[in-house]
Amino acid sequence: MALSERNLSTLRYGDANIVYSVRVNPARHERIAIHVHPDGAVEVEAPEDASEEAIRKAVMKRARWVVQHVTDARKRFEHVLPRQYVSGEQALYLGRRYMLKVVQVPKAERSIKLKRGLLIVASDSIDRSALRARIRAWYRLRARDYFAGRIEAISKALPWVQEPPPFRLLDMKRQWGSCATAGSVTLNPFLVKAPREAIDYVITHELCHLREHNHSPEFFRLLTRSMPGWEAIKSRLDHSAEIILND
Ligand SMILES: [Zn+2]
Repeated sequence: MALSERNLSTLRYGDANIVYSVRVNPARHERIAIHVHPDGAVEVEAPEDASEEAIRKAVMKRARWVVQHVTDARKRFEHVLPRQYVSGEQALYLGRRYMLKVVQVPKAERSIKLKRGLLIVASDSIDRSALRARIRAWYRLRARDYFAGRIEAISKALPWVQEPPPFRLLDMKRQWGSCATAGSVTLNPFLVKAPREAIDYVITHELCHLREHNHSPEFFRLLTRSMPGWEAIKSRLDHSAEIILND
């Protein structure tokens, strides 16, 4: 599941090239909807019977609006401040907000733990790059454990999944996860910052790809059967992408 996977098309509008992906939504019956995601990715949601021409026309008709929103989104995305890794900063874990507390300790006493709303990082070196590396490693470790448990639980509930597929973690800038045709799942370790339901959604999405390898209407029917209401969860997740992917 990516912020911008799928077939991409380009439409010229003045000096701007609008690159957009198309998602066929069988539950959609009337008009074509255009979404601009927080990172500026444009997604067109179309009913099953919409022709390519109709989709192009719909994008052209709203081109001004799309270009404006893409420009705004990119500006906002650029202005998410880089983390400093100092006490008082916010840290996310499973959708909850914690406050970072940095404590300097001898090397033998290094630790990272969550305690009463705090993410306490006890470290010998407290410079930004050392803390960044340690916190990233901690998220990765947590992600590995948590995702493994959820993949196992969700696999059991999906009849076409015989056994939980192998998975790996990969730092990705624009993607939450992916599924190889051979059946292995790749997940973004930072997804562990997102709410539990969002993590379940991404895993369910990838497990649906074990049966439907593309984003066909059958795929979305399967996804909706497996997780009714996923659209709202996906939308919330994509809207917090700039915060979650900022490290
Ligand atoms: Zn997908």
